[in-house]
Amino acid sequence: MISEKMRGYVENSSAIRAMFEEGKKMADQFGAENVYDFSLGNPNVPAPAEVKNAIEEILKNEDARMVHGYMNNAGYEDVREAVAASLNQRFGTAFHKENILMTVGAAGGMNVLMKTLLNPGDEVLTFAPYFGEYRAYVTNYDGILKEVEPNTETFQPNLKKFEQMLSEKTKAVIVNTPNNPTGVVYSEATIQKMAAILETKQKEFGTSIYLISDEPYRELAYDGVEVPYLTKYYRNTIVGYSFSKSLSLPGERIGYLVMPDELDGAKDIIAAAAVANRILGYVNAPSLFQRVIAKCLDAKADLEYYNRNRETLYNGLQKAGLTCIKPEGAFYLFVKSPIADEKEFCQKAKEYHLLIVPGSSFACPGYVRLAYCVSYETIVNALPKFEELMKNYK
Ligand code: PLP
Repeated sequence: MISEKMRGYVENSSAIRAMFEEGKKMADQFGAENVYDFSLGNPNVPAPAEVKNAIEEILKNEDARMVHGYMNNAGYEDVREAVAASLNQRFGTAFHKENILMTVGAAGGMNVLMKTLLNPGDEVLTFAPYFGEYRAYVTNYDGILKEVEPNTETFQPNLKKFEQMLSEKTKAVIVNTPNNPTGVVYSEATIQKMAAILETKQKEFGTSIYLISDEPYRELAYDGVEVPYLTKYYRNTIVGYSFSKSLSLPGERIGYLVMPDELDGAKDIIAAAAVANRILGYVNAPSLFQRVIAKCLDAKADLEYYNRNRETLYNGLQKAGLTCIKPEGAFYLFVKSPIADEKEFCQKAKEYHLLIVPGSSFACPGYVRLAYCVSYETIVNALPKFEELMKNYK
């Protein structure tokens, strides 16, 4: 009964979600404290106090007809103005409210962008490993997602291959830094090189190639590492942001797009994105949470919590004989599987109640992803299990 296209999506439906469901079942069976679920990027840190305070203040002081009503499809004007001012202060940019469109999380923003930009057959490039749902975001609008093969030495983007893959058909490039699943932050040198390649190719083809920076993990960067703001390096950059991870609000579905005036066709893109937001059925981003985040733009994620998890898990896994790049951001570790078939390794891990996700879900087989946005106790208690697991491969 369902559409052909949908059948494909259901069949490929995220192994991560399946694992999450399995984790819940295992927790019922063995007790939650005996299951070590590293499968999902669902923050374990509660939203900062500012969020609750803002909700209470808004419900007490603001007019309910306004707080829960329809507004401009792009979002409340005062909220978009506040977002623009906050970005300008942090990054030295010159955005104004028209550049900001409030979205239903990062996923909503990406769908709005693809709906806005793609004609059937247009190509979108992204760098493996990548967040698997990008494929659906692109094919939802009959675009073609092309993956640039990974550079497994550093997990910085493979720019040589990238340059070869750009063509007249390339409409957009999606980057995600700090990265899910590797935790790598793209360096300024990488961004500068990527921007130079894109400029050259735009000239060569006489086309516009939009660089889409999907950055729900921007605020999660450790050891003071800088996460370059991409609109400053390449004119045709659009930023997608989300409060899901930075303020631990994934269920509230709130984020925004930044579409600068410098974009080729900026006026049309900005107007079309607001229409896309509406006709995709989002209509507008959740009204209460637009108002909440406007009051929480300076609130901080509990970085130290994730940092302690990162250090403990990274050191513990190395001790157990596993190898991975030390992540500089996000809350994931991308670990080399001790056997070529990483799915088999994930199955074996389950016997020790360790839930980890195969790299094939991110177009990078041979690796596994661990999400460390879990409790510290989960990590401490899981490490002896990893040691036991690894005895199978010695
Ligand atoms: N992009 C990346 C790279 C992600 O990791 C996620 C969620 O995990 C999303 C987008 C979707 O984020 P949201 O829940 O804000 O829609």
